[in-house]
Amino acid sequence: MKDNPVNSMADVKRRFSTVSNARRCSECREEALGRCPECHKGLCQDHFPKQQHSPCAEHQMKIAQDQVCYVCGTQVYPDQWSLSKTSHFVDTFTCRGCGRYICNELHTQRKKDEVTITREGLRGHRYQYTVRYCDLCSPLYRVGGLKGLARVIVTVGTVAAAAFFYFHP
Ligand SMILES: [Zn+2]
Ligand SMILES: [Zn+2]
Ligand SMILES: [Zn+2]
Ligand SMILES: [Zn+2]
Repeated sequence: MKDNPVNSMADVKRRFSTVSNARRCSECREEALGRCPECHKGLCQDHFPKQQHSPCAEHQMKIAQDQVCYVCGTQVYPDQWSLSKTSHFVDTFTCRGCGRYICNELHTQRKKDEVTITREGLRGHRYQYTVRYCDLCSPLYRVGGLKGLARVIVTVGTVAAAAFFYFHP
């Protein structure tokens, strides 16, 4: 008896949907356990580190010599890894305030962990980010570092200008 082509297509689809394509590692087709915060690809535990998947690995190679602490020039190695199927760690070695690379030993003035939970299918995934602030941004961390301060100044300036024109028509 001949296979009904419509039925067999449906079968293929059903077989695939047990672990849908979106939930597979983009490198090895294993079940994806995390998502790279940079390229947003689904990745398994082995391929989650940036050096283990493209395009992040190539990008990482290209900018390796630029990844230096802006204060002392020490090379830094941004990293991300998975501790388990549902907990992932990301350390970008950059200052949250100004976005520049800073070394861990000398020029990370303030360091804290920030945890975000995202739902991926039925699982909750825990991403722990290492948030760093440099010497300059550390006192300003409440407003978001130098960039945040610039925003605050712009906002205050706009409000002041508006008030000025309101009271001096
Ligand atoms: Zn993989
Ligand atoms: Zn990536
Ligand atoms: Zn440094
Ligand atoms: Zn900074």
